Amino acid sequence: MRASIISVGTELLFGQIVNTNSAYLSRHLNLMGYDVLFHFVVGDNPKRLRETLYRAMDETELIITTGGLGPTQDDLTKEVISSSLGIGIERNEEAYRFLLRKFKDRNMTSNNLKQANMPINAKIFLNEAGTAPAFAIKKNNNIIVSLPGPPIEVNWIFNNGLKDYLMKLAHGNKKMYYRVIRTIGIGESNLETVLMPIIDKQTDPTIATYAKEGECTIRIASKRDNMEEAKIAVDDIISKIEKLAPGIIYSYEDEELNEVVLKKLKILGWKISSAESCTGGLFSGMITDVSGASSIFEKSFITYSNNSKVDELGVSPLTIKEYGVVSPEVSVEMAEGVRKVSGSDLALSITGIAEESKDGDAGTAYIGYSYGEKHGYKEVKTRRNNRKWNRRYFSLMMLKLANDILSEEISKLN
Ligand code: ATP
Ligand code: MG
Repeated sequence: MRASIISVGTELLFGQIVNTNSAYLSRHLNLMGYDVLFHFVVGDNPKRLRETLYRAMDETELIITTGGLGPTQDDLTKEVISSSLGIGIERNEEAYRFLLRKFKDRNMTSNNLKQANMPINAKIFLNEAGTAPAFAIKKNNNIIVSLPGPPIEVNWIFNNGLKDYLMKLAHGNKKMYYRVIRTIGIGESNLETVLMPIIDKQTDPTIATYAKEGECTIRIASKRDNMEEAKIAVDDIISKIEKLAPGIIYSYEDEELNEVVLKKLKILGWKISSAESCTGGLFSGMITDVSGASSIFEKSFITYSNNSKVDELGVSPLTIKEYGVVSPEVSVEMAEGVRKVSGSDLALSITGIAEESKDGDAGTAYIGYSYGEKHGYKEVKTRRNNRKWNRRYFSLMMLKLANDILSEEISKLN
């Protein structure tokens, strides 16, 4: 089924907020098997919203709008949708009861009450993350779903009713099951070559790969008469992928690598520390991006200069002199040093060259590690002279190394 997304809000056109709702919805619609054909952005303007809606209805069966469902004057999405479709608005009992419950301790203004009005025959999606209920309304061959603007509300509604509704809408009585697995350490074209034997003659499950800066995501989807069959078919493909390319999957649940690392540290009850040179704290940033990081993250040093590596981490000036600052030897001394200073269970370090300079080839880095009785390093070579890309890739490789070490330690627990 074809779909489009209309994001409503003048702030979006001013560039004051980034349109994360359309990215979020598009990604999930795609995963569910929709063909998303358009993203429209339109200001809080009834005429242009109406024109956009008609355009979207001409081109696609499903239209999802976000924004403008609030109680204020400029929130007019619901009114414009109703009038454009020629459907009246009336108080919706379900929405009304929901709002009474939401506002039980506060005074409800007539503006808030406006949120209980819905297009006649609309299906309501309650919104525990906010106050404006969302709705879906059918008109001839089109379904229009209207969601509030705040991303946290979009997310809540999607996971509490909307996803099931859209699944059913797209697949009817057939059951669709999909899983999204994440891989690292293999480029997209290599991955496709490796997977060719199973992708080649595959009509169900379908297998799609998406590359994202050093990582690859694989979506495996099956549509069958019952859910059990679809699940078995998908899981069978996953075991085939594991056999064809061992060790590349880091998540079976569409998680980010930093989330996976954090979970594993928690399982082991370990704390992590780092000493970063060329990544300038990016790795620590990725770790502390995940909520709950305080229970596993001990300390991080950004030791950019040679002196700081010596002073803060106890790297020997002789090692730097003999092997150069970007060297396996220095990376290991950095890791050992930060582990000693922080007392953490796992320490990682990095020394490398993000951009062409007198120190050597851009895109070369050494990641040092120290845990238990072990220490060592890993060489990373990107062959790119792109500072931003390299710094991100190096940090990802630190996460990957942490993940590999932690996975191995966890496997020893069992
Ligand atoms: P509210 O009841 O909060 O007014 P609403 O449904 O009327 O909700 P808007 O007023 O359009 O929604 O937007 C509320 C806020 O939601 C915006 O200030 C912005 O922070 C966020 N938001 C709106 N649209 C988007 C979008 N497309 N992507 C990301 N954030 C958005
Ligand atoms: Mg609003």
